[in-house]
Amino acid sequence: MSFFTKDLLINFLFILLPLFLVQMYYLLKYAKQIDWLKNWTIAIFPILSILLCMLFPVDAVIVPDRYNIDLRRIPYILGTLYGGAGFGTFLLVLILTIRFLIGGVGFYVTLISLPILSIPLFIIAKKYLAMSLQQRIIASTLISLVGALLAMGVSIFVFDIALPTFLWIEFVCLDVIGTLVITVLWEAIRTNLSILKRLVKAEKLEVVSHLAASISHEVRNPLTASRGFMQMLGEDEQNPIKKRYLSIAIDELDRAKDIIDDYLLFANSAPERPEQVDVGVEIQHVLQIMKPLANMNGVVLPPPSLLHGQAKVCGERKKLQQCFINLVKNSIEAMPNGGKLEVKLKKSGETVTVEIHDTGCGMTSEQISRLGEPYFTTKEKGTGLGTMVSFRIIHYMQGKVHVKSEKGKGTCFSIELPLCTKTAPKID
Ligand code: ADP
Ligand code: MG
Repeated sequence: MSFFTKDLLINFLFILLPLFLVQMYYLLKYAKQIDWLKNWTIAIFPILSILLCMLFPVDAVIVPDRYNIDLRRIPYILGTLYGGAGFGTFLLVLILTIRFLIGGVGFYVTLISLPILSIPLFIIAKKYLAMSLQQRIIASTLISLVGALLAMGVSIFVFDIALPTFLWIEFVCLDVIGTLVITVLWEAIRTNLSILKRLVKAEKLEVVSHLAASISHEVRNPLTASRGFMQMLGEDEQNPIKKRYLSIAIDELDRAKDIIDDYLLFANSAPERPEQVDVGVEIQHVLQIMKPLANMNGVVLPPPSLLHGQAKVCGERKKLQQCFINLVKNSIEAMPNGGKLEVKLKKSGETVTVEIHDTGCGMTSEQISRLGEPYFTTKEKGTGLGTMVSFRIIHYMQGKVHVKSEKGKGTCFSIELPLCTKTAPKID
């Protein structure tokens, strides 16, 4: 094997190695639940690959002095495709800076070829994550081919770099095949990660189910009794300080009861006596219930509209109400300084979609992916049970939830439910 090939393969190793570190990182973060590992840490790995590739380029005698041949384009292309144009710009500046510091004619080759490649790269990066797996693999491989040919063309035709043809062919092939291999590996890691996340979520849900079924009932009754007696004591109490203490105690008991109710509802979220429920009527009712909370937060609720009688779904009225209450409550709580809540009802074919829009604090994609996970909350007094219960109720009604959210701008929950004419809800 020639030195040229060996050096290129070592370069490839610099890209593979951080990938394995990424896998370790995910395992630590999600399986071992190490929270101080932040999301942005993942950006270190393409940076590391680029640095290593550029510091240890092909060292063969046939390559002209300070015309560096290496595989830095692979982490650059993949980092941009998966990390977005912003991160791509950072990587571009990083590569140009390092290349400038190394010096030589290669800097000018990079200065011309890499920004040109970045134009289609940044355009594709915008849509990349929405593509299918097959499209993603084809896109990254093609862009890598374009990048390699561009670098080769600029080297030969603009700067007259002399290299034997077979070495050019070898370089282009390894660059393109390398991108293909790394894309497939990276996709495998991503799939593993999503399976791992689902597994952790499922395990937590199972624990909650057991807890809900076993202790909630036993705890609820003594709580209700204690609350009743405290209320009686409070009514007769003259001392204002003691009266205040009792009222705090009652509030806390109410909170405990709410939490237990959530657990109970979670354990019994399957509709026991399914009936035809008018979605519009229930939403209107929920908005009525939530009015005091909305007023307190300065949130404008939608005016009563004629949603009634448009769509009927199969389920249990109380549970569907609770599901909407939890979601509307979250929306209102996301707007502590006021805002606007909008609810839309859209009927299409055999489903009805309820959209709950708010102009609140919004969520990051990490937060969206954790919705429905027990105990996931960002609120000081939150329980992290509300969305879990809502999602479970929707699941039993054979519905689907889609969440769109932008940090600082607002959130939209779309709940798609099958209309009543369709199959009866699944009870398992
Ligand atoms: P809790 O309300 O007790 O925190 P939930 O399960 O109802 O628990 O919600 C979990 C988390 O999801 C909330 O703490 C919040 O961070 C986030 N969330 C849910 N709905 C919204 C929303 N409409 N806007 C912003 N964040 C939301
Ligand atoms: Mg909530």
